[in-house]
Amino acid sequence: MIKVYFLGTGGGMPSKNRRLPAFLMKREGFSALFDCGEGTQYTFTEYGLSSVSLDLIGITHMHGDHVLGLIGLIESMGMLDRKKPLNIMGPKRLKEFLYASFEMSHFRPKFELRFIDEYKGNGIRVKKFETCHTVTSQGYILEEEEKVNLDIDRLKAIGVNDWNVLRKIKGGEDVTYEGRILHHEDYIIKRSGSKVVYTGDTRPCENTVNASKDAALLIHDSTFLDEPSALTYGHSNVSEAATIAQQSNVNLLALTHISARYPEPEPLIQAAKKIFPRVTLPNDLSFINVE
Ligand SMILES: [Zn+2]
Ligand SMILES: [Zn+2]
Repeated sequence: MIKVYFLGTGGGMPSKNRRLPAFLMKREGFSALFDCGEGTQYTFTEYGLSSVSLDLIGITHMHGDHVLGLIGLIESMGMLDRKKPLNIMGPKRLKEFLYASFEMSHFRPKFELRFIDEYKGNGIRVKKFETCHTVTSQGYILEEEEKVNLDIDRLKAIGVNDWNVLRKIKGGEDVTYEGRILHHEDYIIKRSGSKVVYTGDTRPCENTVNASKDAALLIHDSTFLDEPSALTYGHSNVSEAATIAQQSNVNLLALTHISARYPEPEPLIQAAKKIFPRVTLPNDLSFINVE
């Protein structure tokens, strides 16, 4: 199960109702933050969430509302004496931005910053895909590895209950048991892991449809209700986000990066529902469990 925390669901500038973009995704033994708007570390502290143990930070693009909280967050990790390396994914200039800021604010991290293109570990894989904004930008696909379970009913039916045999079958070995060969693939059930996709700021984009195919959750830019300026500023209207969700057959669409001009969520939800029924508009600090 992946737990997705919506730490900041606004965009552009903070409003009374919504903070700047930040999404925490946790799974047993793993946590990642996607985007880090100004003030994100306060949100962690306020709600008793840990930022010092993050395994990965993914930044979608270099607009201030998505990245200006990162310097402070990393500097605080240093003050909390973090030792383990921090994996970072993001646009090319992110590294330059971070090191220039550290230099000017007299901070030298004592832990390693690993700038990577893809993350794999703890049963999770994180990949990027190019999105369609006014500046270079990338979205993220967070996917659980395939789950392998024993077909217990089938094994019971042939009287196998030796844990050593079961362990080998689950590990992908063929086993000789009481004179017969048990082919492991006959006794395991494979289930694909859950997939969560976050777009960052984007126009409706073919790449997002491909990246989000059958995802459990798509978190999509939905800055405007129905504004031509979505095109000018490289954002999406809610109906466009809903169309992408429909084309990619996701299980649930979460509208985000909501403009401060919409204090009431209902008109946006209704507009999206006309196109795609399984839609939600999360408030800050709500969460969704993705099975
Ligand atoms: Zn933005
Ligand atoms: Zn932007």
